[in-house]
Amino acid sequence: MPEEKGLLIVYTGPGKGKTTCALGTAFRAVGQGLRALMVQFIKGSWHYGELDAAKMLGDDKFEIRPMGRGFVKIGGAETDPEDVKLAHECWQTGREAIYSGKYDLVVLDEINYTISYKMLDPDEVVEALKSRPERVHVICTGRNAHPKLVELADLVSEMREVKHPYTKGILALDISMAWFKREKKSIEQTTPPEERRVRTEGLWVKCESCRTIVFRKDLEANLHVCPKCQFHFKMSARPRLEMLLDGRWTEHDAGMTSTDPLKFVDTKPYAQRLKEARKKLGMNDAIITAEGQLNGRPVVMCAMEFSFIGGSMGAVVGEKVTRGIELSIETRQPFIAVSCSGGARMMEGTVSLMQLAKVSAALAKLDDEKLPYISVLTDPTTGGVTASFAMLGDLNIAEPGALIGFAGPRVIEQTIRQKLPEGFQRSEFLLEHGFLDAVVHRKELKAYLANALDLLMN
Ligand SMILES: [Zn+2]
Repeated sequence: MPEEKGLLIVYTGPGKGKTTCALGTAFRAVGQGLRALMVQFIKGSWHYGELDAAKMLGDDKFEIRPMGRGFVKIGGAETDPEDVKLAHECWQTGREAIYSGKYDLVVLDEINYTISYKMLDPDEVVEALKSRPERVHVICTGRNAHPKLVELADLVSEMREVKHPYTKGILALDISMAWFKREKKSIEQTTPPEERRVRTEGLWVKCESCRTIVFRKDLEANLHVCPKCQFHFKMSARPRLEMLLDGRWTEHDAGMTSTDPLKFVDTKPYAQRLKEARKKLGMNDAIITAEGQLNGRPVVMCAMEFSFIGGSMGAVVGEKVTRGIELSIETRQPFIAVSCSGGARMMEGTVSLMQLAKVSAALAKLDDEKLPYISVLTDPTTGGVTASFAMLGDLNIAEPGALIGFAGPRVIEQTIRQKLPEGFQRSEFLLEHGFLDAVVHRKELKAYLANALDLLMN
């Protein structure tokens, strides 16, 4: 019996559902015992449902490799060379997979789109597909499929939108999920109290991005970065300082405490909230000021603690940052702030807002003294902290994937009544739009800072 010949399928057209069709075909193929790979030419590091679905099937059966970084810079007057480079890398990965003998079906997601924007040579793609191993099936998706590809294909389906409830598919996830979600009983209702505690609690951590279960010790050894997908977990102030400073450092203003000027009460009294946070974290407020050395270079560094009332800035945080800056001036050392904050602390009302002006004024003085200030923004840095010192650095650098902004995305969407672009308010998006100087992986952060200090101090 002659070996069955693999099909070449093209899903194209301006309507939605091209990738969904490819996924459906791939799921069927997997069900029939075939191994499938989807290489995504455009989709990048953000999270979406098909990744989870593929994981449930297992990497040996269906694998999805998102290799792009979004549509942001593609399709305008000029395509960013970085995206062209990525497109070539995707194509290389796809071609190698087709020829590897490892997969029965390879989906080249959005390859048509990259060809139509001249990021890939259509002849090269068509030639490679023409002479592929006989039994390998290939699916090419994306708008504006190239005529040569259409001619070569066994099946071409064109998606045409008649009606669609979303302005944008991926971003409308919240809306669509609401349709599918079933009302679930909470743990409280279904489980007797004595069984509610999970025994392994604390030992294992689930990655928020790829949902891999990681052994906590391994995660700590890896600087709280997911070893699988490089997702940067929040880092507490102390380990942060241990990571960035050499050996021992001197802590300043550790005893400073808030006085609860408004006698504020929300779901519980602010005084009680403070007391609990102090007891749990062994620190008096949401920031640590340290004087030490970074790869042999003397620095003053403030690191924020998100677990302390959301890393919010009240009188103590504002005062400690200000004193940190003043210490920098006094001792002629550069100043570094590592932010991780939900913004101003509402329980201290106007007192919190006054910190914005105070810190900004201190930074202006630092600038007059010609001493550098490097701001490191980590996930999340929002509200009053963004509006004051976090964006005022001589260098503003961020960790990958960090949420950075003033108001949250939901508030903005409700205000302007528009869907926001993909990856909006994440470090990479802000870098592309000129709000940041660099996005630096946590493993490279210390070396990067040392280098920057050398440049700024000379
Ligand atoms: Zn991960």
